[in-house]
Amino acid sequence: RTVFVNGDYLPEEQATVSIFDRGFLMADAVYEVVSVLNGKLLDFSGHMARLSRSLDALEMRNPMDAEAYLEAHHELIRLNEIEDGLIYLQVSRGNPGDRDFAYPAADVQPTVVMFTQAKPGLADAPAAKTGWKIVSIDDLRWGRRDIKTVQLLYPSMAKMAAKAQGVDDAWLVEDGMVTEGTSNNAYIVKDGVIVTRALSTDILHGITRAAVLRFAAEAQMKVEERSFSIAEAQAADEAFVTSASAFVMPVVEIDGQAVGGGRVGPVAQRLREIYIEESRKAAV
Ligand code: PMP
Repeated sequence: RTVFVNGDYLPEEQATVSIFDRGFLMADAVYEVVSVLNGKLLDFSGHMARLSRSLDALEMRNPMDAEAYLEAHHELIRLNEIEDGLIYLQVSRGNPGDRDFAYPAADVQPTVVMFTQAKPGLADAPAAKTGWKIVSIDDLRWGRRDIKTVQLLYPSMAKMAAKAQGVDDAWLVEDGMVTEGTSNNAYIVKDGVIVTRALSTDILHGITRAAVLRFAAEAQMKVEERSFSIAEAQAADEAFVTSASAFVMPVVEIDGQAVGGGRVGPVAQRLREIYIEESRKAAV
């Protein structure tokens, strides 16, 4: 692969970042993942807007403007001949030359790295036809989940706990209510109403969530933004998750209990189709 490091396009073997980089030592970095279908970027401006918000929340300078990011994404798609896949982008506070809790002086240049992941047939994932099984697990993450930091150890632990139980993912639960999935937003559908947790510092403000809720409203579907419990989800007609890489993914089992008879439901299926179709049309 050819990857991007601070303005340079290099073979991945030659791409390096300092051991003093604060992304490495402190998880002092934010990231975005943008999907590519037919060589084009989905929801690109939404992801760039959230990158700016994450950087602002951490008082980190954005070292590139939106146009430069777009050009770098397009260049990586071209150099790596990506039809369908993902582009990972990370901005860290850079290399102050030593380890210190305090942020370095403003003249320390942030580190930008980007790389591609080819995912042939991304929009036709077989899992979307059968749905995911998930388990619930305590949400033990920090309190600013609206900032998309690379501090991903707890979500990794939750993913491993899910795998150990033979399922696909975990939903995180705090004070008896589902916050979100390890790397996706969580939804249920009951009597035709789509329910998903309201935006706050408790969850990541999913770019796919925003798009899906907009498409749901346009299709005259009812949406309620409120918290729900695992028991309510198990008794729902449908459940699903959204993310830039999974799009809309049905959930058919929660903690060993089938949801919606264990089959993919019509609302999740329809939202997936609408999301993919509309996002393809608007892709850049
Ligand atoms: N929540 C969490 C914790 C995530 O990591 C992600 C994916 N990065 C999402 C939600 C979904 O966000 P998006 O739709 O922007 O990919």
